[in-house]
Amino acid sequence: MNIKCILGFHSWGGCKCTQCAKTRDEEHGWNGCKCTKCGKTRDEQHDWTKDCEKCSKCAKHNDEQHDWNGCKCTKCGKTRDEQHKWDGCKCTICDEERDSQHSWDGYQCSQCGKTRCPKCGGAVTRVGSLFSSSGSGYGCTKCGWRRRKCGNTNCEGGYLEYVGSLDGYPDCVAYSCVKCDWGGSGVAFHDKEK
Ligand SMILES: [Zn+2]
Ligand SMILES: [Zn+2]
Ligand SMILES: [Zn+2]
Ligand SMILES: [Zn+2]
Ligand SMILES: [Zn+2]
Ligand SMILES: [Zn+2]
Ligand SMILES: [Zn+2]
Ligand SMILES: [Zn+2]
Repeated sequence: MNIKCILGFHSWGGCKCTQCAKTRDEEHGWNGCKCTKCGKTRDEQHDWTKDCEKCSKCAKHNDEQHDWNGCKCTKCGKTRDEQHKWDGCKCTICDEERDSQHSWDGYQCSQCGKTRCPKCGGAVTRVGSLFSSSGSGYGCTKCGWRRRKCGNTNCEGGYLEYVGSLDGYPDCVAYSCVKCDWGGSGVAFHDKEK
């Protein structure tokens, strides 16, 4: 410890000694209700903007009540996990998501992006290598459902469904996307698709 500090001559920088850890109750560096130097709090200039009921700086309780509009306070913007305004799987007020009433479009929910096997409801993952080294496919890990991904890059969640065989080409099939009008023909890429 600095010899001056031991003798009681601290080098005060506001409320805190710059040489040792000693603090004093003078010249605080107030930022609202809290001193940025020593951490002391005072009962003025609390910050209620993030939470009407609690100061965001010192956690002091406020008697103000939230003004709830469903799940969100109109004054401070705090959200709660009740009275959501659901539109499908998403709350229109706070963007909270729930795992029900998804808007399935292809194998993907168009609202939250969750995937689902159209056959059994299991999770869909990328299984590209099962078709060919270059093709990109998607499949269900649970029931074995597999389809080739739609070739339209703007088509989220679209997959190709077999629509018919080609006359004279026994190994070829015609396919089209379940979502958009992308389609084509090619070598049958999976037995289950025939
Ligand atoms: Zn000191
Ligand atoms: Zn201080
Ligand atoms: Zn405070
Ligand atoms: Zn509030
Ligand atoms: Zn909500
Ligand atoms: Zn969803
Ligand atoms: Zn499945
Ligand atoms: Zn498509």
